[in-house]
Order: sequence, then structure tokens, then C-alpha cells
Amino acid sequence: MAPAKFDVAVLGAGIIGSAVARELARRGRSVVVLEAGEVAGETSCRAMGHVGVYDDSPAQLVLTRFARGLWDEVEPEVPSEVDFVRWGALWLADTEEEMSVVEHKAEVYARAGVPAEVVDGRRLSEMEPNVRRGLPGALWVPGDIVVDAAEATRFLARSAEAAGAEIRTHTRVRSIGREALELDRGGRVRADRFVVATGWRAPELLPSLPVRPRKGHIVLTTPRPGYVRHQLSEVGYVRGSNPRTAEAIDFSCQPRSSGRYLLGATRQYVGTSLDVDPQVVERLVQRARRFLPDFHRIPVERTWAGLRPAGPDGVPILGPMPGRPELILAVAHEGIGITTSIATGRLVAEIVDGQTPSIPLDDFRPEKFGLRSAGAKPRARRPPRRPTGRRPRGTGGPSPVR
Ligand SMILES: Cc1cc2nc3c(=O)[nH]c(=O)nc-3n(C[C@H](O)[C@H](O)[C@H](O)COP(=O)(O)OP(=O)(O)OC[C@H]3O[C@@H](n4cnc5c(N)ncnc54)[C@H](O)[C@@H]3O)c2cc1C
Repeated sequence: MAPAKFDVAVLGAGIIGSAVARELARRGRSVVVLEAGEVAGETSCRAMGHVGVYDDSPAQLVLTRFARGLWDEVEPEVPSEVDFVRWGALWLADTEEEMSVVEHKAEVYARAGVPAEVVDGRRLSEMEPNVRRGLPGALWVPGDIVVDAAEATRFLARSAEAAGAEIRTHTRVRSIGREALELDRGGRVRADRFVVATGWRAPELLPSLPVRPRKGHIVLTTPRPGYVRHQLSEVGYVRGSNPRTAEAIDFSCQPRSSGRYLLGATRQYVGTSLDVDPQVVERLVQRARRFLPDFHRIPVERTWAGLRPAGPDGVPILGPMPGRPELILAVAHEGIGITTSIATGRLVAEIVDGQTPSIPLDDFRPEKFGLRSAGAKPRARRPPRRPTGRRPRGTGGPSPVR
């Protein structure tokens, strides 16, 4: 029987809420997860699955290095459908000038103790025979992983349940009080702590949160095994991932063990529609051809779009809302939420348990983003409509892309 009051209520069963619930339940906490739709029903089933070390900022580097290490620890538990493969990543330089970016990146990774190696154009051609001849080189990061984002989310949710967490789907939270959540369909859920993991929708409940939907398009190809052998990204990607860049179309190509490829990555602040814009897809494919000249010869299986929960800084907002120690934020993971999910679970659990955090949290604290205690008031406006885009063909979401 459900307790009258849970230790922790987690809002949202995307990859962040699922990872938080798993870690807390494994530590013996009574946990309930309230999810408006299905597990992995929103952004976490629309993502690529690069679990990488990213260095857009020092804070991001510390967090993602820690995060990738936790995925390494979890690997023995991961079921095959998650398609966990250590493909390694290649950060490609498009021009000679960009080789200086590659070299700088190599130094940053070396200082952080992340194995990485600069490879020249000849070596790159051996590693990736289908990339454009004449590219000057790349940074090879052998430890980077790729997972199926939707299946990874379901795996984390299932293991939360196995550890005793209760997941209530189709249960939308209307407002967050000091001791209880009010549900849309009526009723309340009482808990000592509340963890907000509602992705890009976080401001619906807490209007002061600086989180915006940042749309990304994805192309999934039909199988062509061996065409690409690593997670490929252009090293100029960091320009587009900057939260202040209004629109970016950068090359990122991700192999799956089925021989299919996911192609990204676009970033646009264009509202909440999930409609696929054929012109954006065309630009994405054109960008890919700069690095993989005959990419267009691989037939496309399907396309879709997702909404990243973007904050002001390219790093998540983690920690108690000022003045509300019972209300813990785990939002704004933007383009690194798959990578940092397990790490977020660990850090949130350490906050709940009053432990010293595994990494310093100063760069992620709500105060840093100007948040004050007044944010947690009941929703006074109607929520935005659910995204209007058609779901990609398949079962309930664009998940299996292996
Ligand atoms: C195109 C694209 C490519 C990406 N590629 C990568 C990548 O390669 N690597 C990487 O690390 N990250 C990547 N990301 C980022 C990653 O997908 C996100 O950071 C991550 O999925 C965010 O997870 P979340 O749990 O915060 O949000 P979501 O998955 O959106 O989950 C939030 C959940 O909260 C629920 N919810 C909302 N409001 C309420 C409410 N009031 N009551 C109850 N439930 C509610 C929603 O229904 C939803 O299920 C990509 C994202 C996109 C869009």
C-alpha cells in the first residue's frame, strides 16, 4: 500500500526523473513518480544518444566527465535494447583553422584526465573511409558511448520500480505546495521532498524558471552497416550549442548497431510545435554532405523533432529552490540530458541525503540563475497545448532507432 506521505515525489518520468527515482529508491527512500503522459513520452524519446564528455564550459566538462563515468559503472546492468555501444567520438575539423580548436580541445581533455587523441587527415580517412577526403583531422575520444535514449529512459524507470519506486503515468501535477502536490485530475500527493524534472515544461509549474524549448530535428536512415564507425560531430558544434545562438544547424551523425544512422543537430527557439520542417531537414542533410559527401544516397527511414529543455548556460539547474528546501530542481539539461541523467540522479540523491556532492554544485545552483524563493506558486495560466506534431511512425513515440 502506498504510504500516506512519501519521502520524495518526483515530477516527470523522462530520463531525468527516472534516473532520480532510481537512485533515491536504491537508497531506501519511498519514492513516487508523477508523470503526465508515458515514461519517456516527451524529449527523452526524441533525442540522439551521445553519452559524451562535452567542454562547452568548465562546469559542463566537470559534470559530463563525472556523468560518463557513471554510465561506465552502470554498463553491466544495461539490457541489450538500450544499445549501449562504446563507438568513441570523432570531433571533426572542417578547415585548417578548426584544427586549432581540435588541438585546444585535446589540451582541455588532457588536463581533465579524459583520454583523447588528435588524429590527422590520413588517420581519419582510415578510421572513417566515407568522410570527405582532405579534412585536416579530428579529435578522437575513445571512451564516448551511444545509447538509445528512449530505451535508456525505460531501463532507468524499470530499475527505479524494481528498487521500490511507484510510477504513476497519466498523472499531471497542477501545482506544488509545501507539503503536497495537487493533481490535475483532483487529489493530492504528500511528500517530504519534491523533485521537479518536467523538462521544457518546467515553467508551467514554476513560472520563474528560465527554461525554454529548443527544437531539434533528427533524420533516421535505413541500414547501411559500416558506413560510419564512430559518433561524428563537427568541432564547430560548440557554436551552435551556445544557448544564445538563435538558430544552428551543425553536423552530428550517430551509428546504431542495426546499421542505421541518426543525423542531427539543429537548434532553434521556435515555440513548442513538433512539426517537422522539411527545409530544416534539407539543410541538415546538406550540412552532413559537407562531411559525408554521399550521405544523401542512404534512404531516410523517418524524421522527427524534439524540444530540448534549454536553460541560460548550457548546464542544468540542480538544487533546492531558494527559500524552499523541500523543492529540488533538476531541469534545463538542454542537449546533455541523456549523458547527465544518472549523474543528476546521484547529485539529487546526495542533496536529499545531506551528503557532500560528488562534484561541486556551485555552477548549477538555482541562485546562480537569479532564482528567488517566490517561484513556487500554483499555476495561474492555462498550460500550452501539447505539441502539435505528428508522432513519427512507430509505437507511441519515436523510440527504437537501433
Ligand atoms: C534532437 C535532440 C537531440 C538530443 N541529443 C542528445 C544527445 O545526443 N545526448 C544527450 O545527452 N542529450 C541529448 N538531447 C537532450 C536530451 O534529450 C534532454 O536533455 C533530456 O531528454 C531531457 O530529459 P527530461 O527528463 O528533463 O525531459 P523530458 O524527457 O521531456 O521529461 C519530462 C517529463 O515530465 C513530464 N511532465 C511535464 N509536466 C508535467 C506535469 N505538470 N506533471 C507531471 N509530469 C509532467 C512530461 O510528460 C515528460 O515525460 C537531445 C535532445 C534533442 C531534442
